[in-house]
Amino acid sequence: MRKPVIAGNWKMFKTIAEAVDFVDKIKPVAEKAGHCEVIVAPPFTALAAAAKAAKGSKVAVAAQNVHWDKEGAHTGDVSTGMLLDAGCTHVIIGHSERRHDCGETDEQVNKKVKAALAAGLAPIVCVGELLAEREKGETEKVLERQFVVGLAGLTAPDFSRIMVAYEPVWAIGTGRTATPEMAAEAHRFIRGLTRRQFGEDAAKGVRILYGGSVKPENVGGLMAQEEIDGALVGGASLKVDSFAALINYPGA
Ligand code: PEP
Repeated sequence: MRKPVIAGNWKMFKTIAEAVDFVDKIKPVAEKAGHCEVIVAPPFTALAAAAKAAKGSKVAVAAQNVHWDKEGAHTGDVSTGMLLDAGCTHVIIGHSERRHDCGETDEQVNKKVKAALAAGLAPIVCVGELLAEREKGETEKVLERQFVVGLAGLTAPDFSRIMVAYEPVWAIGTGRTATPEMAAEAHRFIRGLTRRQFGEDAAKGVRILYGGSVKPENVGGLMAQEEIDGALVGGASLKVDSFAALINYPGA
């Protein structure tokens, strides 16, 4: 049985006070939601305060990025040790906004995943194709490259600590969602890659989240797909009511 995960990626939104207020309000919702894990990913500045507010609750705190070095001359970057110090348990790696806005490569994703695992953080590794790539019929080729290179050199026990998020870039922040069937097809493909690279148990166990304009109105249809083990949500995770509705998705 794969326990569903509802994760909110707050991107560059929320001050410290707003993040703490949100966590305080979502804690009782998460407490009652035994059916799923709840994760929020505040911006770096609010991580420590959000993690302090979430302490002892069922809300886990993720960072949105990490550097692979333990320390060094990397202006603007943050290390795994700093994230642990702030109280994070998870870290999003390879989000499309980092790949496409900041030129993050699959090789860098791989270094970040290895560093996160070595430090004891659980990586949420994002993969997904651009619209042009889908239109050229290259979705599987892109997903395979991102998965194989991004997760190169990992053992099956390493992989068992990872979640994968399938986030078609054309669906992120655009209001354009993949249909549940399209998402499930991509998830099946990713599960197949997992089987090939890490074995049957890994394929059965890996939680693959869907991300891309997930909202309270469409989450039920997506979560009804056996292949979809959760959602990584941007815009609709910013309001408490909306995130609460996602946690208590229809059919949960
Ligand atoms: C995301 O940030 O990972 C995301 C999927 O954003 P949105 O839900 O706003 O499309």
